[in-house]
Order: sequence, then structure tokens, then C-alpha cells
Amino acid sequence: MDRKRFAEKPELLAPAGDLARAMTAVRYGADAVYLGGPQFSLRSRASNFTLEDIAEACRFAHEHGSHVHVTVNMIPHEEDYDGLKEYLVRLQDIGVDALIIASPAVMELAGKYAPETEIHCSTQMSVTNAGAARFLYDTLKIDRVVLARECTLDDVRRITADSPVATEAFIHGGMCVSYSGRCTLSNRMTLRDANRGGCAQSCRWFYHLYDGSAEISTENSLFTMGSKDLCAVHEIAALWEAGVRSFKIEGRMKTEYYVASIVSGYRHLLDDLYEHNGILASERLEAHRREIMKGENRAVWNGFYGGVRGAEGLISDLKAGNDVNHDFLGTVADYDPAAGTMTMVTRNPFDLGEAVEVLSPGQENRVFRISEIKNENGEYLEISRQPMKELRLKVPFAVRKDDILRRSREDDH
Ligand code: SF4
Repeated sequence: MDRKRFAEKPELLAPAGDLARAMTAVRYGADAVYLGGPQFSLRSRASNFTLEDIAEACRFAHEHGSHVHVTVNMIPHEEDYDGLKEYLVRLQDIGVDALIIASPAVMELAGKYAPETEIHCSTQMSVTNAGAARFLYDTLKIDRVVLARECTLDDVRRITADSPVATEAFIHGGMCVSYSGRCTLSNRMTLRDANRGGCAQSCRWFYHLYDGSAEISTENSLFTMGSKDLCAVHEIAALWEAGVRSFKIEGRMKTEYYVASIVSGYRHLLDDLYEHNGILASERLEAHRREIMKGENRAVWNGFYGGVRGAEGLISDLKAGNDVNHDFLGTVADYDPAAGTMTMVTRNPFDLGEAVEVLSPGQENRVFRISEIKNENGEYLEISRQPMKELRLKVPFAVRKDDILRRSREDDH
């Protein structure tokens, strides 16, 4: 292992579907967030960002030493260019750090109209070899390439060694069953263009299978093409050693709870690897994986990093995938140190006596048992069943506004 590689921390890059999630990602340790504006982005249906929101995300991220990358990664048809130049100028003016682009023509325009802003080649361009990375760097002056999710670890090593451009690699989140987005399933089944921001995730639907007129699937084993999610905890040290500059988490459609949990988990893992020159005992690595999986609800695998493989990466039936192991109970609204109580805003039901885990940016997670619940009238409660209610709970340690509260499903109560 080349320990010198671990002298510099790579970027942890998190998804944000709206301003609140961008701020949460930054608070929980993301070095950069990526988001889509109202136009020209894949996942445009997932985006709740106006240009004002993007400006606010930039202000907040920069104040915290983080960066903002904006996706301009649709595959444009002729009619899609209206307003693009003005949009690129505006993104540069409001302080966006990088544009994630999937079309050579848009890259060329960005170089002309937003020359101060970095250009990152989107994973949609499926870069799987050093020659492609070099070509994009030489001809379109890109600053970074987001590697195809279909790269093996050996591919990543060769690209980082044999091309001059910085690399970014996915470490967690959803995978396309097709070559990252190069797919028209959604177009054909829903008339929503996957490559112009409209993917309906048709690969994840459940299908009845027929052999002629006889159904061969059953209600309990319907067919799906969906891929398991990526979880590269065990590959991160190798990716880091290979020289990857940025580790990317997928999930602009995911909740604030997911963003906080996954970013916090990988933040701790990267910091631990940094402190130990890239070498962690397998039990320690497994502890990080378990922590990250508290926020993940789907079955995971290590993607293509271990080599191109078969059906083990697919969700093959209804039972695979729904692996919820924690419930999001709510967030902290305020803390009263004199009384040792907090106000929380509820999300999911809970009872007196249950063990609650607190996620707080920059801290190890802590657990306490609920010994007292009061409602807004000061009445004692034994259960909480309504979402979005403010309740007062005793808590044995200091908490902070926006800390996240969750409960393990394995707890014996
Ligand atoms: S339908 Fe599935 S494979 Fe196709 S683009 Fe959407 S997520 Fe990817």
C-alpha cells in the first residue's frame, strides 16, 4: 500500500434534492454537494432548486469550506438549447464551483460562457478508459471526469495512472441496470425521457412474466430488473490509493435523513482511514459499514469494482431489497441545558422507554432511553403517534438544533 497517497483527503461529494438537504449534507461533513437546477439537468423532476436556492446553497457551502456542483447533464436535442447560454453565465455569476455536463457541445459552451467554473464530465459519458479521459481533457479542457459506474477497480487504477485529469468515482447509492442512464425503458413505458431528466425508474418496477399465455411468476416472486445499490466501503482505500480525488454518493431523490446518515457514515470512515494511513482492521471497516447501512433501505453490493459479474447485482424478487433497519423519529428543534430537555419535531411513532440514537454533525453517535415525554401543554405522554408534532423529551447529554433522532428496529425496547 502506498501510504503517501493518504496524506491528502479526497472530496466527499453528496447529493441534494433541495436547499435543506444541501445544508444537511454540508453540516454532516460533505466537502461538496451536487444538485440540479430547474433546467438542463437529469433528475430535473427531483430538483426543487431555483436559481436563488442555488445562490443560497453556494453561500452556505462556501461559508463552511464546501463546494457546489450543478448538473447540466441532460442529453440535449436541438430544441433544448434555448436559454442555455444565459443559464451557464448565471450559474458562474452566482458562484457555482463546477458544472457536471454530459454533452461535448454543452462542455464547449460552458468553456465559453462560464470559463471560471470547472467542467466535470458526467458519468453519462461512460468513461471507462484512460484514452477517453485524455481525449476529453485535451479537446474539451475538462477539469474532472466522473468515471462510469461500470469501471472495475483495475480500470480506475489505469485511468488515474494514465490520464492527466482528476477523477471522481461513485461509492454509494443507486445504480442503473443499463449503462448509467443510456436507456430508453422509461421513454418507452411512460413517454418520459430518461436522458432529459424524466426517468421513471421502470427497471425497478415489478413485472408479471408469461410463457405464452401461462404466467410463470407468482405474487411473491414478481420479476424486476432493478440493480442493488452500490456500497463501496471495502473498496474505498483502494480507490483512494489509486488517486481518485472525489468520492460521490448517489441519491438526489433521497430524504434528508438518508443524506445525513450516509454522509455522516462516510465522513467518519474517510477520517478514520486518513488517520490510519489507509489501513483499518476488518472489524473496524465492518463497523463503518454497519453504521452506513443504518441509513440505507435497499440491498447493496460492491458494484463493478470487483469485476464484471452476473445476477448477484440484481434485485431478483419482491423480498430482496427492503432492508429497513432503523426508523427516523424526528429532529431536534432546541435544547435546554438547565432542564436537560429538548424539543423535537416528530416523524415516526415511538414509545416511552425506547432507545434513541442521536446523529450530530462531527460527533460519534450517542444513545439514550426515553424517560419522559411531554406535549405542548406540559402533559406527560407514554406514546407518540402523530408526525410533525413538537414534543419535549428528557435527554442526558447536550444536543443541537437539527440533530437527527432514530431508533433501531432490533432494539428490544
Ligand atoms: S429505467 Fe432504470 S436503467 Fe433505465 S435509466 Fe432509469 S434507472 Fe437507469
